[in-house]
Amino acid sequence: MICVDNFLTGTRHNVERLSGNPLFSLIEQDVIDPLQIDGPVDEIYNLACAASPPLYQADPVHTMMTCVVGTRNLLTLAEAKGARFLLASTSEVYGDPEQHPQTEEYRGNVNCTGPRACYDEGKRAAETLSFDMLRHGRADARVARIFNTYGPRMLENDGRIVSNLICQALRGQDLTIYGTGTQTRSFCYVSDLIKGLVALMAVTPNPGQPVNLGNPVEITILDLADQVLRKTGALSRLVHLPLPQDDPPRRRPDIMRAYTLLGWQPEVGLDDGLSATINYFKQALVSP
Ligand code: UDP
Repeated sequence: MICVDNFLTGTRHNVERLSGNPLFSLIEQDVIDPLQIDGPVDEIYNLACAASPPLYQADPVHTMMTCVVGTRNLLTLAEAKGARFLLASTSEVYGDPEQHPQTEEYRGNVNCTGPRACYDEGKRAAETLSFDMLRHGRADARVARIFNTYGPRMLENDGRIVSNLICQALRGQDLTIYGTGTQTRSFCYVSDLIKGLVALMAVTPNPGQPVNLGNPVEITILDLADQVLRKTGALSRLVHLPLPQDDPPRRRPDIMRAYTLLGWQPEVGLDDGLSATINYFKQALVSP
């Protein structure tokens, strides 16, 4: 197992426990730079890119290049090694969706000049590269469209809703709600997502089409905040801040394709997933 990471949004701490494992090696590098990997490679998971809006918008040009040049580099590596390739794409390819829930056939509604475009259009271009390499017989490329995912080992300052609310509640701070809080998302626990990615990498024949991976249980941001308050016992107040530009009002995956092709569906409900994530942050905030 070779892990390539520039630790832009991850931490060394997360992979430290693997450092003594002779089957694990770490290359500290940005995927934008050409990769030199010796020896055979069977499978490449392209999980590179900041995924939280504040972090991917902090350096938007780098975000787009990570998606486009990084994916090109990893597809080239897959071609050279004869490896299977999986792109972690995103529900953001649907933009502000006019279809609800979102099926893979829906072509999306992305504002290509807005602040989210570096990520959304970057991932759309990465999908294009992946399917072109597949069509031309150059790489066995697969594409997962990942919907909101959460769980232990998120960064506490990641900026996304689940980590923000939990860390704010545990610190007794106000919970930040952007806009009215009536916007919805559908939250998938990390272990479910990983099972979906592994199943998509393993399935034969190659599906040749993108596959949504996410939990179809949709809730409002206000409901999520209530659950976090109830589960942490925090007495925090809710404060409303401006809704970021192009923030999608609704999002929910149609996962029929993943179920049909992979036999995959999420198993961990929000209640259990939030408990595990809250327990993680209780530890992490005490001893980072
Ligand atoms: N959000 C919020 N408070 C926060 C962080 C996010 O109300 O502290 C909202 C955000 O505006 C969006 C939703 O929660 O409507 C999910 O945001 P997140 O950044 O987690 O992911 P997104 O789905 O927007 O990529």
